[in-house]
Amino acid sequence: MAVRFDSSSQDRRTRVQGRPVDSYPQVVPEAERGAVHRITVVGEDVLRRRCEEVTAFGTPELARLVDDMFATNRVAGGAGLAANQIGEGLRVFVWDITDDWGVRHVGHIVNPVLDEIPAEQRRLVEESEGCLSVPGPYRVVSRPDRAVVRGRDRTGEPLVIEGRGYFARCLQHETDHLNGRLYLDRLARRERRTALSEMAEAREAVFARRAERAAELGK
Ligand SMILES: [Zn+2]
Repeated sequence: MAVRFDSSSQDRRTRVQGRPVDSYPQVVPEAERGAVHRITVVGEDVLRRRCEEVTAFGTPELARLVDDMFATNRVAGGAGLAANQIGEGLRVFVWDITDDWGVRHVGHIVNPVLDEIPAEQRRLVEESEGCLSVPGPYRVVSRPDRAVVRGRDRTGEPLVIEGRGYFARCLQHETDHLNGRLYLDRLARRERRTALSEMAEAREAVFARRAERAAELGK
């Protein structure tokens, strides 16, 4: 039987924008520069609309948006964050996530398009996921275990990012956000209802934790 990943020889270096780097700071530089924003919550219109394509690259506004998204994601302890989660209806998301093999992935992508994986190559996995815009609950969602997104970086350079395992899940979850979808939409109605009532119970405590963490980090 073939082993998919040989952990002894796998390159465990951090991937920044998909490329391995020899060293990387614990705090993403963008997060140091950025400002923390309020995270939008399910029920807000901006999370339900398809986000708009970015047409101007290399602008200070786009750089600031990416910085602010990293800062907000850090304070919330998130794996990834989409622009509409800070109220900006643009096709941008960021990630800072350690995958199933202990490799950290950090990056941002603009105008991402998810590759269609042919049915015969698709392997669905069931894993628990949560969302910063649905503070509190986690639910099991079935998704392909591999994902490829194609887009650009903030300067307009073409970018292709491939993820496996939990990182693949993150790339799909964030792309869903840009299309106005939440993981709740992938649940049976009854499960969605229980998740929302758990959220109603938990949300104030989650907001308080984020505010504490922002204060600790001087944000
Ligand atoms: Zn989310």
